[in-house]
Amino acid sequence: MPKPKKNNISRILILSLFFVALIAASFAFGYKTGYDKGADSASRNRNILLVNEDNLLPPDYVPEDLVNLYEMRHAFRLANAEIYMTRVAYEPMQEMFLAAEHDNVNGFIITSGYRSYERQQEIYAESKPGYAQKPGASEHQTGLCFDVTAMNSGDGFENTEQYAWLRQNAYKYGFIQRYPANKSHITGISHEPWHYRYVGVAAAEYIHKNNITLEEYLK
Ligand SMILES: [Zn+2]
Repeated sequence: MPKPKKNNISRILILSLFFVALIAASFAFGYKTGYDKGADSASRNRNILLVNEDNLLPPDYVPEDLVNLYEMRHAFRLANAEIYMTRVAYEPMQEMFLAAEHDNVNGFIITSGYRSYERQQEIYAESKPGYAQKPGASEHQTGLCFDVTAMNSGDGFENTEQYAWLRQNAYKYGFIQRYPANKSHITGISHEPWHYRYVGVAAAEYIHKNNITLEEYLK
């Protein structure tokens, strides 16, 4: 009699230990998974809008606080007087081009900023297939990006000192070159040396130093 009782006790003990371990393991696994995802989405996604073919903006999306660059102090030239960006992106943009000026790199011309859904619809309708983003898929609808060229960009913007300066310094002001070369399989867009997107300094620095895209950063 005492022998089986002892066996029962050890069996119960082993079983309970097994279940405790199982619960601990699943908790640890679940916690870890949740933690990783949580950390990524909470710290990385905050205020960072991802816009692409798979993440469309609704037709009525208009960013808050758009400013007309022509009316603001600007350390860059403008292709026309109707280029708008959100204030949150304009301010570091102005700071960035002032810094370029201090480094004796001038002659930047901003050619495009905010673009409405309707405007993108027109562009899309007028373009050959594959040449323009679908309405809702253009980052220009965010008001957080600009297209830039240079006075001396005859051989292509990517061959200018202005481009070289941006490649080296844009991240310090929270901007990334959104569609780098050799990343079109991820971004869905071929190399655009002229398109810069504001993502904030922490994200831009991470993206720049790890040579990744916004899609990879927000994964
Ligand atoms: Zn662009």
